[in-house]
Amino acid sequence: MQGQKKISFSSQEFIDIFHYPGELGVKYSNRQSEFRLWAPTASNVLLVTYPTGNDSKGTKTPMSKGEQGTWYLDVAGDLHGIYYNYLVTVDGMTQEAMDPYAKACGVNGNRGMVVDMQRTDPDGWQDLVRPTLSHFINSIIYELHVRDFTIWSESGVQQKGKFLGMTERGTTVCHSVSTGLDHLSELGITHVQLMPCYDFSTIDECKLDAEYNWGYDPQNYNIPEGSYATDPYHGGIRIREFKEMIMALKEQGIRVVLDVVYNHTYLAAESHLNKIVPGYYYRQDPYGNLTNGSGCGNELASERSMVRKMITDSVVYWANEYKIDGFRFDLMALLDIVTINEIRSALNDVDSSIIVYGEGWIGGHSPLPDNCKALKGNVRQLPGTGVFNDDVRDAVKGHVFFGEQPGFVNGAIGMEESVKCGIVGATDHDQVDYNQVLFSHFPWAAEPAQSINYVEAHDNYTLWDKLLKTNPNDSEEVRMAMHKMSAAIILTSQGIPFLHGGMEFLRSKNGDHNSYKSPDSINQINWMQKCKYKGIFSYYQGLIQLRKTHPAFRMKTTGEIQSNLCFLPMPAGQMLGYVLTKANADPWQKIVVVFNATSTGRLIDLPGNHWIIVVNQKQAGINELGRVMTDKVVVPGRTSLVLVEAESFLGN
Ligand code: CA
Repeated sequence: MQGQKKISFSSQEFIDIFHYPGELGVKYSNRQSEFRLWAPTASNVLLVTYPTGNDSKGTKTPMSKGEQGTWYLDVAGDLHGIYYNYLVTVDGMTQEAMDPYAKACGVNGNRGMVVDMQRTDPDGWQDLVRPTLSHFINSIIYELHVRDFTIWSESGVQQKGKFLGMTERGTTVCHSVSTGLDHLSELGITHVQLMPCYDFSTIDECKLDAEYNWGYDPQNYNIPEGSYATDPYHGGIRIREFKEMIMALKEQGIRVVLDVVYNHTYLAAESHLNKIVPGYYYRQDPYGNLTNGSGCGNELASERSMVRKMITDSVVYWANEYKIDGFRFDLMALLDIVTINEIRSALNDVDSSIIVYGEGWIGGHSPLPDNCKALKGNVRQLPGTGVFNDDVRDAVKGHVFFGEQPGFVNGAIGMEESVKCGIVGATDHDQVDYNQVLFSHFPWAAEPAQSINYVEAHDNYTLWDKLLKTNPNDSEEVRMAMHKMSAAIILTSQGIPFLHGGMEFLRSKNGDHNSYKSPDSINQINWMQKCKYKGIFSYYQGLIQLRKTHPAFRMKTTGEIQSNLCFLPMPAGQMLGYVLTKANADPWQKIVVVFNATSTGRLIDLPGNHWIIVVNQKQAGINELGRVMTDKVVVPGRTSLVLVEAESFLGN
């Protein structure tokens, strides 16, 4: 802004002069393409076009200065497949940068590509609809990493580690045990949460199979990652193959959630964003240094109007163009409350059944004030958005950072109230003493769907590895009982259950607690485990069937839980039990759920005289496993029981 006074990026004056509410990026038609870039501090901007996504020489064309800090150029002709960047001059320095709104790119995401999105649609895409979801609370989320899921040499999948690998049907291990997509259908989950699938930075797409990364290192927010495509060079291919994956999942009735990382970018000073508007996109301390609330060296300033717009536009773009059904925000608390609410509202305009949740914490120190952060403790100010319940996570299995520290299922005393915080979905309940809950001393969720209940995710030890840390001297059989109780707690609790892919057959990473760049040998799903631990898989499958069939486990409101879920007195510590009475119009009018984490059997009193067991230590589901003809039952050690009042069970 030579010749002008510098206006602070954070001032209202800057917003008044430079906030651009219109469409940015390339507006394509087969007659012309309109380019528009927001670069309010630039003194000059040129469009550079290229015939290919790498190597070739470019052609420069000057752009015109438009309203509110934008630069524009209309180019005649059909530009589909043309690659482009911008040459942006700020304070006398000219740098080449990629369009933050680019929808397609060449290899390694260094050049944008003009794309006719219709040409990327697989057959049938236009008619593809979202699988039915009548309420967020009916979600059962399953997290997976595209590469991990099929890369194992014996996965039976042809396109191993690729988007297309997720589309293959009829794949098996051990002759008849299903893997990949068929496995997901068999398990019965409602949502798949895909670990980062936007274009990330640290895998060199020219050297496929040489490197591994989870992908929490964003480069281009609106483009699928190239290393998961069969050809990362031609911009349309990764888009089409990503759509084919989405379509294959939805055709199985599975909704798709993307893991999105709008809290930071891989590069900061050298990022495309910073080349276009230096200093605008990232939070800084009073000395002008980048702050590090992400633990990854920088954090996006979501509270600035054009950053907020960029994030919101990006989320809405994925929801519309790719028919994405949900978003999991990494380090969501680094985004401000206004931004998350704006995203929620914009998604409601697309489809109000799109689910939004995230990590209600940050990864370092941020200058964003706590009362502005989308923290777990502020989730009541984020209606329609959920957060991960770390209280129940650590209460069930022990602290994620202190490996040897156990939780409820593996021997700790005093975890009962924290587990109860999960059972009631972190809502207000007279029988939960929040003063004794691990991290949050108040009922943080306004509604149960705001609590994402889990014991295992991609971060930290897998549950199976954790149990080996805490209980090295116990037999495998004992640790399997602990694993099953963890599953039973999560899948019967109010709120939304979340599973980490592979835990349903005791996934191990050989004790690696941070495998973000560990090799396939650590991260890959070893499908042989599914053959080996058939009983564990059936147990998960049965719990999912129980949850999906019986609405008592999916009450929609805090009031219903308060009225219909009553904790029962237990004869000893390390035990929990409750009764669900006439909950959520469930045909089963009385359901008792009991967890005995001690090693010995205990006699408990039941509120009634005649019961049918549907979950015990061996099996889980909706079928009769045994009967109790009195108002007392012995709960064996390390056992979960679900009992249904016989009258309403048999009455069905
Ligand atoms: Ca990439």
